[in-house]
Amino acid sequence: MKLLSTELYGNSPVYLQNLMLSLREYANSRKRYGMGYYRFLHQLSGMDENDRQSEERYRDQELRSFLRHAAEHSAFYQELYGKSLADIQCASDLRQLPVIEEELFNERIDEIRLHTMRKKEGAADVSGTGQSPRLWLSNLDLQKQTAAVDHFKKQHGAINLDMKRATFHQGNFVPPGQKQGAFWRDIYYLNQRLYSADHCMEPFLPTVVRNLNGFRPDFIDGLPDAILAIARYINDHRLLLDFQAVAVFVESEILSESEGLEIESAFGCSVRRWSMKTERSPFLTECSAGNLHFNMRTGVMEFTDQGDVLLTRFHTTGTPLIRLKIKDQWMPIYCQCPCGSVHPVVRKPLEPISAFLQSRSRGRVTSLYLATVQEKFRQAAPSMQFVQNSLDAIEIWLSGTNTIPAELEQNIVREMADIFGEDMSFTVKGRLHGAGDKGAGPSGLIINNLQLPRTCQSDYSTD
Ligand SMILES: [Zn+2]
Repeated sequence: MKLLSTELYGNSPVYLQNLMLSLREYANSRKRYGMGYYRFLHQLSGMDENDRQSEERYRDQELRSFLRHAAEHSAFYQELYGKSLADIQCASDLRQLPVIEEELFNERIDEIRLHTMRKKEGAADVSGTGQSPRLWLSNLDLQKQTAAVDHFKKQHGAINLDMKRATFHQGNFVPPGQKQGAFWRDIYYLNQRLYSADHCMEPFLPTVVRNLNGFRPDFIDGLPDAILAIARYINDHRLLLDFQAVAVFVESEILSESEGLEIESAFGCSVRRWSMKTERSPFLTECSAGNLHFNMRTGVMEFTDQGDVLLTRFHTTGTPLIRLKIKDQWMPIYCQCPCGSVHPVVRKPLEPISAFLQSRSRGRVTSLYLATVQEKFRQAAPSMQFVQNSLDAIEIWLSGTNTIPAELEQNIVREMADIFGEDMSFTVKGRLHGAGDKGAGPSGLIINNLQLPRTCQSDYSTD
């Protein structure tokens, strides 16, 4: 990014900035879009995400060769694993290997890096977030990571490099102080127009939207806030666009239903989330059923009983990342996704799924019913919260009290049984403070912790 902060770049006219940016990206893209990229993209296209056996076979093969590679070329893993690797045949065998804490990983990153990478000049240096030291990745690592992302987009109709792409991106490719003129730059070689996310706000929105409409991109991707601001502007002004994008991809793990609708109605196409926040984050993508899948062709995600997430990422051969305890919180969802993919579905632990609880025999009960219950007992219990952790039971929390009169308890339980059926149990509990322990917990009328993703019905098991 050095080029962009130079005076030469800042003081150049836009067409020259476009040219400089394109030249720089040409050099960068040779790293990303080399033969390894095309080969992996081709390979991915030939695979079948719905075939559990072949997906697991591929993952386990990759895992074995990745571990062997790490143990042969990294001093740290050589010492850590010794001879124990021979027993590791598949992902579930990983449990035999030690967990690596992030502090240890950071501390010994120089020994973790491959011997060759440490000396080699020009290896890609990709920075992690904030204070974490960089992972050194080989060009092939980068190419495979890029191919995995592009394959995801291809599944939703967008072919990177071939199709015109509008990307909402943060960076100083447009000088931050710029108040008029072009808030975008072209990278000719990549068929891409970069829009400055910092300028996706009033008073620049009309200019950006007009340009986007003139550019007529085939697909749109980038930062959710910027894309949302554009979508809101389009919807608020009832603008009809002159182009039809195949899809919008937002780099985000979470997008509320209303935000998704806002974007879809502005661009008239589906919006899909994907995430690979840092080189230490799992690669997650949203499927046509609206669930987030972990791409098991890129590694292994493990979930411990303590709620920790361990990540092994195949395309980090320069600085192998194996069983790293990551900070991101994710929960597995053990059910077959309606989209057919066998890649594991995950969700954020506290993300409320929807405004409903599940009755064992009567299906979904929306918050409307529960609001009625709350209304009925308002005098005796001003604040209620309904929490469901299993299909058999619902907890009813009353705030501001520790003791609950027996009669009130019975009345609430009877009311709940009328709505949900007699085949479930209901527990009324009191707490002195409002909902949400440590200030971070959920608040609101209902909390559905069943971990069933959207459209995924109750055919789940616990393993
Ligand atoms: Zn799915």
